[in-house]
Amino acid sequence: MRIALYGGSFNPLHLGHLSIAAYVLSKGLADEFSFLLNPHNPHKSRAELEDPQKRLSALREIVQEINIARRGAAGGPDAAGAPDAAGGAGGAGGAGRDLLSVNDVEFYLPEPLYTFETLEYLSARHRENEYLLVIGADNAAKIERWYKWRELVAKYKVLVYPRKGFDAEQICREYGLTYLPAPLVDISSTMIRKEPNKQEFIDYYLNRDYFCKVFDNIKIMVSYKELGLVNTREMFAKAVKGGYAIPAFNFNNMEQMQAIIQACVETKSPVILQVSAGARKYANQTILRYMAQGAVEYAKELGCNIPIVLHLDHGDSFELCKSCIEMGFSSVMIDGSHLSYEDNVALTKKVVDYAHQYDVTVEGELGVLAGVEDDVKAEHHTYTRPEEVEDFVKKTGVDSLAISIGTSHGAYKFKPGQKPEIRLDILHEIEKRIPGFPIVLHGSSSVPQDIVAEINKYGGALKDSIGIPENQLREAAKSAVCKINIDSDGRLAMTAAVRKVFVEHPEEFDPRKYLGPAREKLKELYIHKVLNVLGSNDKA
Ligand SMILES: [Zn+2]
Repeated sequence: MRIALYGGSFNPLHLGHLSIAAYVLSKGLADEFSFLLNPHNPHKSRAELEDPQKRLSALREIVQEINIARRGAAGGPDAAGAPDAAGGAGGAGGAGRDLLSVNDVEFYLPEPLYTFETLEYLSARHRENEYLLVIGADNAAKIERWYKWRELVAKYKVLVYPRKGFDAEQICREYGLTYLPAPLVDISSTMIRKEPNKQEFIDYYLNRDYFCKVFDNIKIMVSYKELGLVNTREMFAKAVKGGYAIPAFNFNNMEQMQAIIQACVETKSPVILQVSAGARKYANQTILRYMAQGAVEYAKELGCNIPIVLHLDHGDSFELCKSCIEMGFSSVMIDGSHLSYEDNVALTKKVVDYAHQYDVTVEGELGVLAGVEDDVKAEHHTYTRPEEVEDFVKKTGVDSLAISIGTSHGAYKFKPGQKPEIRLDILHEIEKRIPGFPIVLHGSSSVPQDIVAEINKYGGALKDSIGIPENQLREAAKSAVCKINIDSDGRLAMTAAVRKVFVEHPEEFDPRKYLGPAREKLKELYIHKVLNVLGSNDKA
């Protein structure tokens, strides 16, 4: 969405306007901001400036510089591309696109110049924008005196920023306006008019260093589309139809990411790169985001542009999901399975409502899996109740649903003597209730016994770890199960490889000499999973 802010002829108020743009962009309320200026505004005397044209080009220069600095920081491929100063439709999602633009809109409306009519005029002629009206609380307090104020409020979003001596929040409640708790530059034309040395005052604030600082200090939302990632929607639809499942492999470091991408490129499989809250803490979310972006580029370099999703595993709060979406995740899981049914519905819906604004897909969960996975723990299974799924999906709007049918987290899924079995009957009952709806299986490692034996042979002490038989998972993948999470098996494979190196080469101390073989072993495992468990090969 591209938002326009009309500023009449250029006046010092644009200092505030820049802050507003920074705030609106940082909150993800818009992904582009256009300043519409009318340099030939006959009412320019209000701005009390000697040379509005000069001011306009100064603003243009600053905006240009901010865009170039941001493009440089983002490192987009067209970092040197020309800015869209002509006020075109604005390319959504392209890397390196400009966040800000300054556009001339020359028009003349007779006095008295009403805000409502100005907005009507602009929105009829420049339809590519959405229009915001941003006003101080002092002006909002007397909005009832504005020309056609009811129509104005009904038709345009009015944002109110704080002003000393006014209760902006109360005013917003009263008139149905939107409170904007923006850290605005507290400067107004009134202030400037009172200033004895106007020009000096303006020169001081209209300073590129000052604005570059304002924009540097805000976190601009990163869209996953800019990183080259995709959401799960199309991927899942194809998987359900095609009778296979997409691998969701967890990663925390570079070797894991490389193994995942190498395996999926070689088998031409779409893939979900999965990050748990624990991984986010361990690796740092900024690094993970750049690694996911790196994964996209790496896959291309390896010769196959496979669809890649960056997914949050077991998000436990709205705030965490929101933060991931702002950081470039294309899919999030909100796990409200430990809550009451009603609370799970409410939390999941809240995340879905937010995520869908940015075309990010959401996985919900019904039923509780036993086992331990990072911070997610449960003693016993609570199987998903098929009679709840239809209502849950309808009320929340989720894009996929994790269910509990006997899979469990961790390497100790079953005790010796227990027959590992997933309840395919519950799965089939769920499928009947929500035909074709994407289902997700967590805790679906198989704990390969040869790998466990290797770990124990080289000094490990893994006791009685048993997983889900791969043939049962393959069976599930043929149904509406379209995402299978595999984490523990990867951990086991890496551990086996590292232990082997340490036992066979105790003199080794170069991390590449043990992480390298660990990466190889992991890649082998993932290729095996894609070909024999998920069936997602050649589906990229
Ligand atoms: Zn899980």
